[in-house]
Amino acid sequence: MFPDILGEPFANKHTKLQIAGKVVKRLIAEGREALPDEYTALLAGCGSRIIRHYPAVRAPRMRHAFQWDGRELIATLSRMHKEGHRWLGVLHTHPAAPPVPSSLDQTHWHYPQLSFWILSFSGEQPELRAYQWHSGRFQLRPFELC
Ligand SMILES: [Zn+2]
Repeated sequence: MFPDILGEPFANKHTKLQIAGKVVKRLIAEGREALPDEYTALLAGCGSRIIRHYPAVRAPRMRHAFQWDGRELIATLSRMHKEGHRWLGVLHTHPAAPPVPSSLDQTHWHYPQLSFWILSFSGEQPELRAYQWHSGRFQLRPFELC
């Protein structure tokens, strides 16, 4: 349906994952607004560089952030495609837990080529971490702001 939508942010080992500072600011603001519920967004851009986010607007009060409404996921990917971006990752918040993938996160993650982001509000400051599913587990990946 969207042949080129899936990006490969980790394809080039020498290119560090990047995320726009303004996107991070919005994610923190919107994630905080959603508290005490979880918040989730798709992350998009080009290559290894994330420059846009698409929050789930119709997400029900979720037990788990990955329960995207199927139609909304398709609609969001379609918008992303029209806007010329590729899908590079998924972010969700941990309102009260550290930014470490839970066992649910592990069993619900079906896009190993994408980046997996957790934004935690459990500490004094929001903490953002990026992971890659590699060799059967999540591995922490460095990223820089752009
Ligand atoms: Zn989680």
